[in-house]
Amino acid sequence: MPPAARDPEAMEPDSPDVVFKPLEERPAKKAKKEEDKSIPEPEVSENSHITLTSHPDAFGVNPVPISWGHPDPQVRAPVICTVRHAAQRNAIGAHQGSYCIYTGLAVAAGKLNPDYVPNLKLTSPVMKIGPYPSWSDPKKIGSIDPYGHMTTEYYGDWLKKGWDIRPTIAVTKAHIDLPECREAIAAGRLKPDGKILMPSGQSIVSKAAIEPVWYLPEIARRFETTESNLRQSIFRMTNGMYPELITRPDIKIFLPPIGGLTVYIWGDPDTIPDEDIELTCRVHDECNGSDVFGSDICTCRPYLTHAIEECIRTAQKGGCGVFIYYRKEGRSLGEVTKYLVYNTRKRQEGGDSAERYFSCTEQVAGVQDTRFQALMPDPLHFIGVTKIHNFISMSDMKYNAIINTGIKIVNRIEIPQELVPADAQVEITAKVFHGYNAGKAYQGIDAAELKKTKGREYDYDEKEKE
Ligand SMILES: [Zn+2]
Repeated sequence: MPPAARDPEAMEPDSPDVVFKPLEERPAKKAKKEEDKSIPEPEVSENSHITLTSHPDAFGVNPVPISWGHPDPQVRAPVICTVRHAAQRNAIGAHQGSYCIYTGLAVAAGKLNPDYVPNLKLTSPVMKIGPYPSWSDPKKIGSIDPYGHMTTEYYGDWLKKGWDIRPTIAVTKAHIDLPECREAIAAGRLKPDGKILMPSGQSIVSKAAIEPVWYLPEIARRFETTESNLRQSIFRMTNGMYPELITRPDIKIFLPPIGGLTVYIWGDPDTIPDEDIELTCRVHDECNGSDVFGSDICTCRPYLTHAIEECIRTAQKGGCGVFIYYRKEGRSLGEVTKYLVYNTRKRQEGGDSAERYFSCTEQVAGVQDTRFQALMPDPLHFIGVTKIHNFISMSDMKYNAIINTGIKIVNRIEIPQELVPADAQVEITAKVFHGYNAGKAYQGIDAAELKKTKGREYDYDEKEKE
């Protein structure tokens, strides 16, 4: 089947812009034709055929070459990972992270045409981000695509030629409303300015949603292993979900089926690269039970809202507040594992204790933590961060990961003691004892303190005691 040439601006038949398209646009398109020669012709796959990816000759025979880290996005070439160009895609996996499975469901249910190509016409970013020198340094960006939000801008000619190229980053803005911000206004800690913070407690943010795009040689380097060991380990631990990790060593890009992240920015993002302008930052890992539902077993939501308060304050002083929200639930072990650990903590002999806080996770999962912060700083480099004045975190792992990529951190800010929920004393005590930055508030946590810090008893199921 010959590829259908696609004009992204004429995608939707009911779009009024198709009818009222300004005439002067047309010669401009013709003038660009010469450049188009450098763009390969797309081959459109027959989605009625099933091709096994375990047969190297049958699949991805002609991937579009990609030079990760090249400063020219045209030479770098777009990440192509859609089902439309099976023979030419240059990445393993699928778009939308774990949600890719739902697109399969939608096709199975007859709700989605697998040949559908998105209309990206009105989707471009609401603000400019970059480009920054870090974008062409794989040591700084190897787990997201720095051109992932600029698909229509950088790769518009590809789209016109019929390529299905999907953004992996979307940049928009929002008004957000947290009860803690209203409380901070009532307590006089925050003062509305009508620009960044409204009297209602709403604050104005720019935000970017980012899906992971892994450049496998760089991921391997960060984990101090070989690329083949990395590929084999992921293949093995996913029960062979991605045969191309083994059969296609020439394809270096992998879109893993994991959660992404969101960057929230208060203030003018253009100030971020200026080291003389104050920047406040927190990198937060998802904890749905606390972040959304207010569970008191940990410090996640209080730390989140404290950081947002600091971000707003910095933005009001003319600086910028950056909050990165990573979908790494339960230290990237997931919520089921997390709750199993909670039960183990509460039921173990002697009850929940700071002393055995980390060993309980290891007992259940075989490992204490799979967040592995080595990839975490990439979105900071994406938005041009080179210096953080206020780092709202006590984590030594996050701190070290960030400074190891060349970003300077001036102050490390601990969570105010009065914000730590009653049952979260176990967590904070264990973390500080094991290397978290104690700041001024958590000095003096020693082995004796660790031993005596106990959590709430697991007494809400009386039947268990019988
Ligand atoms: Zn938590």
